Amino acid sequence: MPTIQEYPRLLVVCDRCRSPLVARELPNGTLRPIGSGKTCPCGCGEFSIYE
Ligand SMILES: [Zn+2]
Repeated sequence: MPTIQEYPRLLVVCDRCRSPLVARELPNGTLRPIGSGKTCPCGCGEFSIYE
């Protein structure tokens, strides 16, 4: 089973506060921010891929 370090890194934005975060995209589509647990510092756990 791969570790999270093996998943691709990408830039995402928090859906609530719009803060940009570096995250990893898991195979099931979950976006997991790096270095701040499972959520944005604002407490929101939903992210969109930054484009
Ligand atoms: Zn946020």
